[in-house]
Amino acid sequence: MDRIYLDHSATTPVSQEVLQAMMPCFTEVYGNGSSQHSHGRDAAKLIDIARKQVADAIGAKSSEIYFTGGGTESDNWVVRGVVEAYKTKGNHIITTAIEHPALNKTLDELIRSHGIEVTKLGVDKEGFISLEELKSAIRPTTILVTVMTANNEIGTYQDIAAIGKIAHDNKVLFHTDAVQAICSFGINVVEQNVDFLSLSAHKFYGPKGIGVLYRKNGIKLGKHITGGEQERSMRAGTHNTAGIVGLGKAIEIAVRDRDANNKHLSELRDYFVSEVESKIPNVYYNGTKGNNRMPSIANFSFEFIEGESILLRLDLAGISVSSGSACSSGSLEPSHCLLATGLPIELAHGSLRFSFGINNTKDQVDYVVESLITIIDSLRQLSPLFAMKDGGTFNV
Ligand code: PLP
Repeated sequence: MDRIYLDHSATTPVSQEVLQAMMPCFTEVYGNGSSQHSHGRDAAKLIDIARKQVADAIGAKSSEIYFTGGGTESDNWVVRGVVEAYKTKGNHIITTAIEHPALNKTLDELIRSHGIEVTKLGVDKEGFISLEELKSAIRPTTILVTVMTANNEIGTYQDIAAIGKIAHDNKVLFHTDAVQAICSFGINVVEQNVDFLSLSAHKFYGPKGIGVLYRKNGIKLGKHITGGEQERSMRAGTHNTAGIVGLGKAIEIAVRDRDANNKHLSELRDYFVSEVESKIPNVYYNGTKGNNRMPSIANFSFEFIEGESILLRLDLAGISVSSGSACSSGSLEPSHCLLATGLPIELAHGSLRFSFGINNTKDQVDYVVESLITIIDSLRQLSPLFAMKDGGTFNV
């Protein structure tokens, strides 16, 4: 069997339709979108079309869409830009304990460099924040509430509209990192009370290194990159025309195919979850099993063994998955997200994220489950914790 990719939350392959849309930008439409001549105008036209595709996908206006170098950049820009633009109003930001490092680490850095104050809301065992806690956390000096739409490790989807309403009722701006969410959930920035929103094309079958920051018109934000006049002088630098065109096409397709993809993904995920839970003992599903979750993610903790060891054995069996988020792989720290849900540290160490994509099949799931059964059993035979679980001793 060909290698099986179950790490779509880390990144997705570029779809054929997207690739086709991008190709002319490398060969025919190579002008600089800021140039005055026809080569430049041809590129600018494609950039305008992509801007509209993004705006239409999230219920925004084209003038509210800014192209960036990806989700990390959009998250950085919004928090740094709000701190800069609202420093006379206050220095307090509310976020959650389960944000992506793109947000988390940027806030930590701003605490050190700018003395900002950050409240990190906890989550319950399914990964949801409490709206009551959010309300009580707001201070007169609060300048931003930033809560991710859907979590990259467990897929929990927050009540974005309600969070945005609480922020607005208290005259506070609201940003959401929707990098993982756009494939799975309809987003309407007006109806959901969103002032800023981050996206990244490589999470929805578009190219890497291109993203979006949505900013509601009329809201102040510090400039991000100075230089030329691109992106209304807020984010200078020659446009990545191919990336922008790919992102526009990819988001159009993501919205067009969302219902069909969600059906396929949730069927695969549900089948996988029931197979794992019925065939492997001492396994825990992380996150929520309710409706408010991404259909593409299943996160499990396998008791008595390390997620990293399972990942490496799966890799040898031709299967790619992730332990924690890809961004923190390489570190032996357990996932901050799983710990925030109250999962004991040993179980957090034994966790794996399986994230399905539109090209995965039921046959692949069968092969993954078979491989998992063998691998988990063999690793547990080597595990002192497993040997001692019923009061036995481990003989070296
Ligand atoms: N935010 C979330 C929720 C993510 O999952 C990721 C990527 O894993 C990012 C931000 C960073 O996006 P990018 O890889 O485009 O920088």
